[in-house]
Amino acid sequence: MDLAKELDVYLRARFTLIQIVSHEEERAVQDLRTLCEDSGRTLIAWDVADHFRKLAGDGPEPQPAKDPLSALEAIEKIDGECVILLLDFHQCWSGQPVVTRKLRNLAQSLKYTRKSIIIISPSAKIPDELKDDIVVLDLPPPGHEELSEILAHLEKTPGVTVALGDGVRERMVSLALGLSESQARRVFSKAIVTGGVLDETDLEIIAKEKQQIIRESGALEYYTAAETINDVGGLELLKDWLIRRQLAFSEDAQAYGLQAPKGIALIGIPGTGKSLTAKMVASLWHLPLIRMDIGAMFGSLVGESEQNARTALQLAEAVAPCVLWIDEMEKALSTGDGDSGTSMRVFGTLLSWMQDKKKPVFIVATANDITRLPPELLRRGRFDEIFFLDLPNTTERRAIFDVHLRKRGRDPANFDLARLAASAGGYVGAEIEQAVVDAMYLAFSDETSPGREFTDDDICAALEHLVPMSRSQRERIDFLRTWVEDGRAATASLPESDAVADKAPALQITPLPRADGPDQ
Ligand code: ADP
Repeated sequence: MDLAKELDVYLRARFTLIQIVSHEEERAVQDLRTLCEDSGRTLIAWDVADHFRKLAGDGPEPQPAKDPLSALEAIEKIDGECVILLLDFHQCWSGQPVVTRKLRNLAQSLKYTRKSIIIISPSAKIPDELKDDIVVLDLPPPGHEELSEILAHLEKTPGVTVALGDGVRERMVSLALGLSESQARRVFSKAIVTGGVLDETDLEIIAKEKQQIIRESGALEYYTAAETINDVGGLELLKDWLIRRQLAFSEDAQAYGLQAPKGIALIGIPGTGKSLTAKMVASLWHLPLIRMDIGAMFGSLVGESEQNARTALQLAEAVAPCVLWIDEMEKALSTGDGDSGTSMRVFGTLLSWMQDKKKPVFIVATANDITRLPPELLRRGRFDEIFFLDLPNTTERRAIFDVHLRKRGRDPANFDLARLAASAGGYVGAEIEQAVVDAMYLAFSDETSPGREFTDDDICAALEHLVPMSRSQRERIDFLRTWVEDGRAATASLPESDAVADKAPALQITPLPRADGPDQ
């Protein structure tokens, strides 16, 4: 639903206090003016500089008022039906308990009138006392049509040469989705000014500018994922699941009647390859990867954290189709102001968005510790699948050694992979990689033969020096294994007996239960 329709519903339902959060005041005012003109409502604006003025309709006139409190008193006295728009009012209530109180009183008393107050402000900061009285709405960024108009307008700038072939204009507009009107104008203008011609080469400028703007938004980060499926050792069932959905976002899949997958949750102790998998999904599916730092969303003021979450999710939708990687979800519960209510509200924002999202945003949510997450987050149906990444079994450890030796330009055939895999029981992927790196340092700085090639012995020695995390995480691993046994999560790995040592195992459709149990 766009903002005008949503506002119309709230106004008709007699909501008396509404806040629109947006940096784009002009756009919001324009939307509101159109809504009021179309529906025959009177719209009156007030701000601390220009006081009351009428923007639409010929309804009642308020008495003049210069300060915020007098303005609220004047609104109370208006006789008739109207919508009153208060601009920058968030500056008027800070440190002004009388203004906050009056607004609260009005929220109640206006229910018996045909008047509503709308506040437009760039941030969602609301005094605690007003939280229950205000409905907060977001102004979504401009859509395809609006952006096309902006671009078309700029193309008419005198002296600009436009050489946009078939589909390039379309791609240019799609790239700008998620930006505000002024940001889009800035980005398009920069593309036009650079080189004096607007052509296909400008797509790159626009993409870069957009990445920069998203980065500046704080809670989201654009990732260029280089990790391919060959960089992930083991986790064959998880890979299989992903390969099968490789074309799920294509137009053909849509035409076939397939719904785009919603997302997966990856749970397991640190170092088991959850982040690696998130990056791999994006490159496997050729989709942009956006990482959400849920801990960074926490602001110190009421409403700020949820607003940050909403802004981030809106941006993700604008970039769709994309992979949204929500990293270490449990961090949301350990950061911020220690107020678990705020964390729960941020999770609430996330959950309702997951429920309602219309755009193809595939979520990869990772968590090391699920005991602290709200249970409804991992309830069946929320994600398409919850995968448990267990300690790698022997075959997987072998594959992980293979990956990391190849990554460092070594031929795995020169190493005894069976011995290495056997020595690395209980170690996770990150620790196996660490052992390879440590072995290289060990050999390179060898006193008797500096710079010599590293061997199986060096890797085994490095492993011995590392204390595997699984030792201290035993309880957590056992707890997660019961999730698989209870059918609440799927295992990411093929059971040992089915895996073929030297080549990728055959793909399976249904995740199989772990047949061998822990193999350490
Ligand atoms: P997590 O997100 O589960 O804490 P990561 O994905 O960040 O773990 O793992 C850290 C690094 O360890 C990865 O970047 C990768 O180099 C290595 N690693 C972990 N698991 C695997 C695996 N299954 N195959 C290959 N490398 C792995």
